[in-house]
Amino acid sequence: MGEAPVDWDTLTFSITETDNMYIAKTGINEPWAPGSMRPYGNISISPAAGVINYGQGLFEGLKAYRTAAGRVVLFRPEENARRMQRGADRLKMPPVPESIFIDAVEQCVQQNSRWIPPMGKGALYVRPLLNGSGAILGVAPAPEYTFMVYVTPVGPYFKGGMTCIDLLISDEHHRAAPGGSGGVKAIGNYAPGMMPSKKAKSKGYAEVIYLDAEHHKYIEEVGAANFFCYKDGILYTPELTGTILPGITRDSLIQLAQNMGVEVIETRVSHELAMSADEAFCCGTAAVISPIGSITLGDQKATYSDGNTPGDLTIKLYNALTNIQNEKDEDIFGWVHPVPGL
Ligand SMILES: *Cc1c(COP(=O)(O)O)cnc(C)c1O
Repeated sequence: MGEAPVDWDTLTFSITETDNMYIAKTGINEPWAPGSMRPYGNISISPAAGVINYGQGLFEGLKAYRTAAGRVVLFRPEENARRMQRGADRLKMPPVPESIFIDAVEQCVQQNSRWIPPMGKGALYVRPLLNGSGAILGVAPAPEYTFMVYVTPVGPYFKGGMTCIDLLISDEHHRAAPGGSGGVKAIGNYAPGMMPSKKAKSKGYAEVIYLDAEHHKYIEEVGAANFFCYKDGILYTPELTGTILPGITRDSLIQLAQNMGVEVIETRVSHELAMSADEAFCCGTAAVISPIGSITLGDQKATYSDGNTPGDLTIKLYNALTNIQNEKDEDIFGWVHPVPGL
């Protein structure tokens, strides 16, 4: 094996092939049994598989990193396991038991440990997948399911300090509708966002902000990240109405803010409220927190501070969360999950 052929200083968020991946299969009415590790590589799949015909699939995303305590840890992986179970329920797939999910993630990190970047140089991104792999012609649940986990090293999101992003509110497209699948990490939720996102990027914005599909008024998400804004000492974030993905970063930041004595309100957040706020940021596993410099809606543009300086609470929350994650601060919530043997 030896050292991984990676230049740790130039890692980005992109795929690097690693050594091993995990795979388990089950029938539609069978319980899951633990799967096994195999060399990383292509999989073979029926052209009639439920996932490639009808989108019966889910993904998850989490990170393993080296910490100041000299360990390798995951962040709240049980929450990813539970979220995938809720998604499985929504897409009529057999939910993977939490113990099998965690065991699969741990084995993938252990058996690819040479690909975990040194502390501060990034993380090993872990990507669990659950999909209907059996052949089915009619629109119905597939007869066979595959649970897979692969990993890839990724660089730190911000190299040399947080940078503020400029966002465009979409007045044309929505991410999710009431009663749909926006509240779970269904694979089919993501491709429809690529065109609006590309369009916003071609106009110089980092991402698009989606409003709710019913009133076209309330902020839902920023691309595939959750939204927060801070105004007059209160932190607001869109409430989980079923169209918003319940981010684990979102939940962690709510708890951290409350712990700092900041009032947090989960409610409908209108674009007017967001655009009159003092600070705004979005969050997710990939970047943790991205401070927002400006939000544009039609011919109106709201700029936070000078447009390029993250707000004080934004920075405080970023430091509080990342210091727990890299074990520089005490893990008061019991969020850090050490990977056995590493
Ligand atoms: C994954 C995801 C998030 C962020 O969730 P985390 O658990 O914090 O990584 C937010 N919105 C969408 C649409 C997502 O898919």
